[in-house]
Amino acid sequence: MKVTILGCGPSYGMPSLTRGFGPSDPNEPKNVRTRSDILIEDKGVGILIDTGPEIREQLLRAGTPKIHAILYTHAHYDHMGGAQDLRNVAIEKNEVLDIYGTPKDMLALRRQMPYVFEPSHQKTLSLHYIKPYKSFKIKHLEIIPIFQHHGESSSIGYRIGDFAYCTDVKKIDPEGWKLLKGVKTWVLGCVTTRVNAKHVHLPEALKWVKKLKPERTYLTHMGSKMDYKELKKTLPKGVEPCYDGMVIKI
Ligand SMILES: [Zn+2]
Ligand SMILES: [Zn+2]
Repeated sequence: MKVTILGCGPSYGMPSLTRGFGPSDPNEPKNVRTRSDILIEDKGVGILIDTGPEIREQLLRAGTPKIHAILYTHAHYDHMGGAQDLRNVAIEKNEVLDIYGTPKDMLALRRQMPYVFEPSHQKTLSLHYIKPYKSFKIKHLEIIPIFQHHGESSSIGYRIGDFAYCTDVKKIDPEGWKLLKGVKTWVLGCVTTRVNAKHVHLPEALKWVKKLKPERTYLTHMGSKMDYKELKKTLPKGVEPCYDGMVIKI
């Protein structure tokens, strides 16, 4: 399985419109971060987790891979803003695109972009409602959705085999931790170095790594306080920062 980090930026992107790169080095290309989403490819099957507002340029950069399904983590703009670009591809190619998310998040997507779900496109987009902790299959891959607390809201983390993607998360319930047990490669959202109400910050993230003990952890959804080179130097063994376009072989 191959995982491409299409984007690893925070909700405001890096550089942001207001803060630029903040304290991070503006001359480090790996500090340029588009909004967070990933591409998973295995045996000819292409799955996206989220479609941020830069998904078009991200997929062009990745060589326009074939996408069979999208898994959504939650209905925040930085994770869903690019949904229309994928809808356009599906319509042009006359293919069915399977979209997975919780009923709450799928309703939010419909409200944000009602035209994406016009009746004439119903054959192109196939919505699937998921339930936290209830696994399902996309082709040969078993997907386990994990409920995550995200401030006053919630999000879904996904486990596929030994790999898990957990972003926009502040707390995971015991049932979720149980299902994450044995994960060897973990992509974990970590926005900042300071306490944050909606996301784990760096000290919490490192505590979680000690708890789960994956072989490799990659930090994503990183904001302006997370300078790439500084992190590379200071993170413990087995933990490293993502960068846009990074490829992880599972
Ligand atoms: Zn986010
Ligand atoms: Zn969010």
